Amino acid sequence: MEERSLTDYIKEIPKAELHLHIEGTFEPELMFQIADRNKIKIDYNSVDDLKSAYNFNNLQEFLDIYYTGAKVLQTEEDFYDLTWAYFKKAKEDNIIHTEIMFDPQTHTHRGIPFETVLNGITKAQEDAEKDFGISSLLIMSFLRHLDQNSAFEIYNYFKNHKEKIHAIGLDSSELGNPPSLFTEVFKKAKEDGLKITAHAGEEGPPQYVWEALDILTVHRIDHGNRSLEDENLIKRIAEQQIALTVCPLSNLKLKVVDDLKNHPLKRMLDYGIKATVNSDDPAYFGGYINENFIQTAEAVNLSKKDIYQLVKNSFEASFVSDKRRDEMIDQLKKFSM
Ligand SMILES: [Zn+2]
Repeated sequence: MEERSLTDYIKEIPKAELHLHIEGTFEPELMFQIADRNKIKIDYNSVDDLKSAYNFNNLQEFLDIYYTGAKVLQTEEDFYDLTWAYFKKAKEDNIIHTEIMFDPQTHTHRGIPFETVLNGITKAQEDAEKDFGISSLLIMSFLRHLDQNSAFEIYNYFKNHKEKIHAIGLDSSELGNPPSLFTEVFKKAKEDGLKITAHAGEEGPPQYVWEALDILTVHRIDHGNRSLEDENLIKRIAEQQIALTVCPLSNLKLKVVDDLKNHPLKRMLDYGIKATVNSDDPAYFGGYINENFIQTAEAVNLSKKDIYQLVKNSFEASFVSDKRRDEMIDQLKKFSM
């Protein structure tokens, strides 16, 4: 029997995505369509014009465009369409489980009701489960360039929607906004039984990762690349099997790495770190999850065994029930290397 190519193996293996911002899946074509429908003028003349603006020098330049795009989202239908478009991509990439981050403050701050956002997203989640068999859960993320009081305002919405929100996250501009600024709101979330995660060590120093671990007591770290600058931190993350949700094409596009060949993913695996591969904001960063796997595998020479390990890590680090986790890992059996 002819051996399956690495690319086919990547495409076919079932996988989970753990680091994905729904606002970051907003493809230019859909953005123009929704802007039209809502009679909103955007600052770009055409899809190509907008796409050519997707050359970023750092996280902040990306965020500026990202928030501009999010402004066209007005109705429940808009949030449904956005989320549904992502699920169609997820299906194509053989994602069987996904944990979706959304940033309520991006929308409530411009007058969109929290429920409009939440209902649109969750209806698409229900349809994806029904039509595609993709399970998913929601991570409500706080914008760290806003303060903790603003995070608490958003957190209060959680009380009325406990069944729809499983975890809390922290994203947006990292430098100058360390995890410790959000100690109280994360403490409250943990007391309420939520899972917690935070972006740390993308542009920020290893110290921010320590803070996320020791002060916020997160279950996972989003990105975490710069952890590798600190030997004690590597040891801690590996020993405690704290998962890192790594996003290679995002790292390349935002210049966290200068070349995909220098991406630390392989080194993370060599250290015994529970690394996973994810797409972050795929509409802006040039590829969904399979593209992240394929390009990184080629750049840093990942084997099928590495791919298998990364995928298994994503199931193990997901926030699902033990039953669902076992089911998912079971589906991996025929891909075992
Ligand atoms: Zn992210």
